[in-house]
Amino acid sequence: MGDITRSYARLRDYGVQVIRDEATAIDVEKKRVSLKRIEDLPYDRLVVSPAVDFMHDQIEGYNPEAQKTILHAWKAGPETVALRQQLEAMPDGGVYILSVPRAPYRCPPGPYERACQVAFYFKQAKPRSKVIVLDANEDVVSKPALFKAAWNELYKGVIEYRGNSEAKAVDARAKTVKTDFDAVRGDVLNVLPPMRAGAGAAWTGSAWNRPRTRASTCSAMRRFRRRRCPSPATWRTTTASSPPRRSSSS
Ligand SMILES: Cc1cc2nc3c(=O)[nH]c(=O)nc-3n(C[C@H](O)[C@H](O)[C@H](O)COP(=O)(O)OP(=O)(O)OC[C@H]3O[C@@H](n4cnc5c(N)ncnc54)[C@H](O)[C@@H]3O)c2cc1C
Repeated sequence: MGDITRSYARLRDYGVQVIRDEATAIDVEKKRVSLKRIEDLPYDRLVVSPAVDFMHDQIEGYNPEAQKTILHAWKAGPETVALRQQLEAMPDGGVYILSVPRAPYRCPPGPYERACQVAFYFKQAKPRSKVIVLDANEDVVSKPALFKAAWNELYKGVIEYRGNSEAKAVDARAKTVKTDFDAVRGDVLNVLPPMRAGAGAAWTGSAWNRPRTRASTCSAMRRFRRRRCPSPATWRTTTASSPPRRSSSS
């Protein structure tokens, strides 16, 4: 991870002060953010980026014990390294299962890129191995033509894509992912749980819905999630007084 990790130190040269603390509440009336360790911070403009949380409980059997061996590796860090180690330890001829949740989820092309990356590695190091993509969505949700062309031209026989295959349950011992149709066994299970706006969207409570409070993650995902959102209030981040969105052509 070291070679892709960047320090915040240079930000100081640009007048940016970085504080390492946990935001616990936002008071949009008083324009203050409460922090866990130091006193409240006042603000004129606030950008909130609480990222995503993972809803493991939406998949039967994906409990804390199972999470020790079935990884999502969808937040860069120790899990990314652990997934790499699992793939390196997998024997040639093994099966890697990548389960994609229903959209919206963080980084729509990410799972399909990862499938390519793993297939690339298999071709070099474990040519008898296979990637099975179990996608909860009907079809590839991002750049389908591009990914399908790559799978066909570069990874034929390595990547098997199955749409409409939502992970309903996992069994860490049997190493299976169950869909509505069958139980698929793999040597490495990489199951991405459904995702929602990070906890920060909840701790802001009702304040979240008031004017000029925005969250980049929420607003990006809100466009897709309406139908499956477990807590609709969490997603109502934009109000009439929010600044206009820049058009894609500008
Ligand atoms: C496999 C993968 C590949 C990707 N590839 C690309 C790519 O090629 N290009 C691209 O543009 N994007 C890519 N993405 C998406 C990109 O990583 C995310 O969109 C981006 O990291 C989101 O940034 P963020 O700041 O919203 O969230 P994060 O990067 O998750 O940062 C949120 C931060 O907020 C902190 N935090 C949360 N709650 C609190 C709190 N209460 N108080 C204080 N801090 C808090 C967290 O600790 C975290 O550090 C990829 C994502 C994945 C998973």
